[in-house]
Amino acid sequence: STANKLTWSKAPCRFCGTGCGISVATKNGKVVATHGDEKAPVNKGLSCVKGYFLSKIMYGKDRLTTPMLRKKDGVYHKEGEFTPVSWTEAFDIMEEKFKKVLKEKGPDGISMFGSGQWTVHEGYAAVKLMKGGFLSNNIDPNARHCMASAVGGFMRTFGIDEPMGCYDDMEAADAFVLWGSNMAEMHPILWTRIADRRLSNPHVKVAVLSTFEHRSFDLADIPAVFTPQTDMVLLNAIANYIIESGSVNHDFINKHVNFREGVTDIGYGLRPTHELQKKAKNPNSGASSPIDLKAFTKFVKPYTFEYAEEMSGVPARTIEKIAKLYADPKIKVMSLWTMGVNQHTRGVWTNNLLYNIHLLTGKISEPGNSPFSLTGQPSACGTAREVGTFSHRLPADMMVKNPAHRATAEKIWKLPKGIINGVPGSHAVQQIRDLKDGKINICWNQVNNNVQAGANINEEILPGYRNPDNFIITSDAYPTVTAEASDLILPSAMWVEKEGAFGNAERRTQVWYQLVSAPGDARSDLWQLVEFSKRFTTDEVWPAKILAENPEYKGKTLYEVLYKNGNVDAFPLADISPDYENQESNDFGFYLQKGLFEEYATFGRGHGHDLADYDRYHKERGLRWPVVNGVETKWRFKEGSDPYVKAGADFQFYGHKDDKAIIFALPYEPPAESPNEEFDMWLSTGRVLEHWHSGSMTQRVPELFKAFPNAVCFMHPEDAKKRGLRRGDEVKVISRRGEMKTRVETRGRNKPPVGLVFVPWFDASQLINKVTLDATDPLSKQTDYKKCAVKIEKV
Ligand code: SF4
Repeated sequence: STANKLTWSKAPCRFCGTGCGISVATKNGKVVATHGDEKAPVNKGLSCVKGYFLSKIMYGKDRLTTPMLRKKDGVYHKEGEFTPVSWTEAFDIMEEKFKKVLKEKGPDGISMFGSGQWTVHEGYAAVKLMKGGFLSNNIDPNARHCMASAVGGFMRTFGIDEPMGCYDDMEAADAFVLWGSNMAEMHPILWTRIADRRLSNPHVKVAVLSTFEHRSFDLADIPAVFTPQTDMVLLNAIANYIIESGSVNHDFINKHVNFREGVTDIGYGLRPTHELQKKAKNPNSGASSPIDLKAFTKFVKPYTFEYAEEMSGVPARTIEKIAKLYADPKIKVMSLWTMGVNQHTRGVWTNNLLYNIHLLTGKISEPGNSPFSLTGQPSACGTAREVGTFSHRLPADMMVKNPAHRATAEKIWKLPKGIINGVPGSHAVQQIRDLKDGKINICWNQVNNNVQAGANINEEILPGYRNPDNFIITSDAYPTVTAEASDLILPSAMWVEKEGAFGNAERRTQVWYQLVSAPGDARSDLWQLVEFSKRFTTDEVWPAKILAENPEYKGKTLYEVLYKNGNVDAFPLADISPDYENQESNDFGFYLQKGLFEEYATFGRGHGHDLADYDRYHKERGLRWPVVNGVETKWRFKEGSDPYVKAGADFQFYGHKDDKAIIFALPYEPPAESPNEEFDMWLSTGRVLEHWHSGSMTQRVPELFKAFPNAVCFMHPEDAKKRGLRRGDEVKVISRRGEMKTRVETRGRNKPPVGLVFVPWFDASQLINKVTLDATDPLSKQTDYKKCAVKIEKV
């Protein structure tokens, strides 16, 4: 055996959506070192500090190695102590609970919550189990908190999801404009590419817009700190300037663009917590009607630089400088945005407004001209969005509401016709409320930590988890606050303890092999889903009518129907990596992976979403879809680059039937909650470089923990002084919903303006989401974590 030799293999980083390639060294069945993969086109040998310490994330002392059930006197009890149980006992109680709820309430009584940390295979298997097996659309990813507004923006403007450009734009652009994104900390490797471009080319300009100053401002030629929510005003002011300065690319818009007005009604969906919400009549409608350039011109006319200055606090001269970057036909502009735009009560509109300015000038789908929506999770695109884990979606951008799309899924999945539920399920925020109200009684969490990540935890999340009628299952590698609030914890394999695939922000699909075994009884989420499916027969979960019409399915297990149905099982024990030394794997990965991937790939082939053969990915450092005739696509919608664009079309936005993109007239809308006399500060939340999301992995790496051990409240020294506070003092951050304690930081990497505080959410011992507001975008249902009103008090 060569097991005790050092062996190097490739895998994508399992943290952010950048999708860096990592070289992984294994020895004696353990990951012992990682570094940036020199052959990886995304990071060219570099990695950020999180990628550098990847080898340690799996070896935290409190790694979960056995299922744990709350028990009292030897049996399950909601208030019992967590007690180790076997997988058989864990699945027994899950089976009992699922069957009871399915019998009493039907498929609407169960739910699943996942994330873009699911591998492609896991997310796809979960969608299949929920939508094709249990016939429930109550499955949603944490992308609802992260990318849902970006998806809504793409679907409205282009009719098809995900960026048209790619990271190669970073070496081609003359200007970079960051809207609500701190790339220096959140996408550090991409930031090195931008910094390299800026510092080696003096003509290149960087503009950074945010509600507070952060590390990305170090590179900013044009810094702009704006009042929360007024990005909408700034974007309309730039559109107005493009028109008034005669910079509209008429040839482009005449051929490739329609104009529409998309205003329906004001409102924030869900429970009214603000006057504006109470007024909402039809807040969830995305309807719009056609207008022309003349009407659009009239619509944006009031958005002058002076008005924008008054609203946003950004000097008119600064706004003009940014507007000129877009207006000048000689400057190639890349706009980059992430949570500042998406976590917004008008996140979808703000995405649309960003596309407006690129479409007005025709600065799109060409090297360097690129509106680019960055992603958070490693597979926010590849899994959460593409395989259909949203409650309203099916794989490859298809919708559960659309009968033709359901028919396609039924055909590929070899299911009886008409079996998939056509009503969108409960999205992430609604699931939590349905749990609280007892409409949903079972939630199975995988790869997420919603009790830390969800907004307004005390009022909105914990009551649903601890409702005595409910049974909550959480699969995770570590005992997170979500796991601890659950009834059953299932130990999960992580990263290279299983085979998998991720899809990054530039449509790049990357595949890796299992390299080591998971500890103890930990199993991959895929194993958990597939094993659990063996516990149900069609007779127990499908309507009798369907089975009477399709007797060949009678008495079969969901496992046989979903995962052993001819497509998936066609690849027995294929693809054992030559690098894989540990043949005594406790996971069954190999054979199922290829079958699931190939079956999933049939959804997108021929529909603008073509994936290559599974085996090819093992040989490549990822490929950007659509991959047609073995060739990846760098710029979509552009003739010569995108194989779907007809010869002579130049551009073709084929997501819409008439091949045109849409410019939307959309107004500024005030935030759901603003500071007043009592709650006199804005609160914004977010991440820090050293920690991935809720910190459940990175907090267990000693070097990363020590680098940033606890959350702090970043505030302006004047605000601190006014309250008699000094750096390091303990304070309470208090909102209308709750409070948390943390320490004041007046000199750190983030420099908020007077009147705003920033608190990161990675720290499980200081939960800022007890304070945040749960108002959501009415179209995307994404929560606004970037603005609410708080007061700060000394403890
Ligand atoms: Fe790259 Fe993101 Fe991983 Fe850092 S965390 S190495 S930027 S993928």
